[in-house]
Amino acid sequence: MRILASFSRRIPVSRIAAFFSHKHLAVFCVLLVACLFVAGPSALGAPNTNRSAPKAPSTPAVIKLGAFSYTDARAWFERNGYKTVAGGDGRTLVLKGPGGTLQFEADSREATIHGLRVFLGEAAAAARGSIFVPTVDLQRFLMPMVRPTRLKSVPLRTIVLDPGHGGNDTGTRNLARKLNEKEFTLDVARRLEKLLGQDRWRVLMTRKDDRFVELPERAEFANRAKADLFVSIHFNAVANNPGVRGTETYVLTPQFMRSTSSAKTTPDDGTAQPGNEHDAWSAVLGYHMHRELLTELKTEDRGYKRARFAVLRLVDCPAVLVEAGYLSNDTEAQQIGTAAYRARIAQALYSAIVAYDAARVAAGR
Ligand SMILES: [Zn+2]
Repeated sequence: MRILASFSRRIPVSRIAAFFSHKHLAVFCVLLVACLFVAGPSALGAPNTNRSAPKAPSTPAVIKLGAFSYTDARAWFERNGYKTVAGGDGRTLVLKGPGGTLQFEADSREATIHGLRVFLGEAAAAARGSIFVPTVDLQRFLMPMVRPTRLKSVPLRTIVLDPGHGGNDTGTRNLARKLNEKEFTLDVARRLEKLLGQDRWRVLMTRKDDRFVELPERAEFANRAKADLFVSIHFNAVANNPGVRGTETYVLTPQFMRSTSSAKTTPDDGTAQPGNEHDAWSAVLGYHMHRELLTELKTEDRGYKRARFAVLRLVDCPAVLVEAGYLSNDTEAQQIGTAAYRARIAQALYSAIVAYDAARVAAGR
């Protein structure tokens, strides 16, 4: 300012005006516009989107750990609308998003997805200051659960209900209370059939009375009927541990992955099963089943797991198997023995099918 002031004091204004003739002024204006153009829109007060936008999370890294491909879970979920809220140490990762909280622990197969206890195929791993999860889990299990709208939609016209066991096969039993699994699976399936029958779906059952049906026959029945959804209903039991109780939900184990109960991989894990065509929508179905059962029954969460049960392997549609409760636990056996509790189980399964239907419709838009 001082320099300019002394400059204007020494040189009369009339001399400056004379210096800037019309010709000079035109050249000056052209140069000024050129300078502003080079400086970019921010020089004109417009926001420079390149500079002010937050840095997009980087593409999730994929690494090989042992025989498995792993993907950076933190980067992946941040790209899909989740925010990291804890876990800077690389041992734990907690993210929050529209559907709720996700939690992963290094060296653990157990994770939390929107409040549900979920089992990964292999343990999550600490690497590069983040948590990595098996890529197969991410693509065929986790992504369908948190972003079903990214899936290609599927039809839902025919639903096959599969009441476990029957005839000579009683299923699990509570001898003290004289309870047989086969009676309760059929009762819940009948209740669910009634609820679904009020809607627009064609509902079939693999057995309608107390008869034995081989496992492959159940799957063949569903395939012949061109089922779009398969729901197998069971009750659980465990020997010598009457304290164990709660709800488990199973979908088919993806190819190249060991089942939840397998301690290590086997050569059979590499075999693709007919049901593997439907891994993604089975993951969505199992997610809603597990969620609705826990919400309705308020039982212990025994986990959302994967297994290669015959019916899940052989059906050519999204499929789930629910273990609604433990007949070997006296409190739960007593509950399962009541019609009111079984009505609640059927209601939960019905709500899950309605939620699945909404998800597949949303995916088609
Ligand atoms: Zn069973």
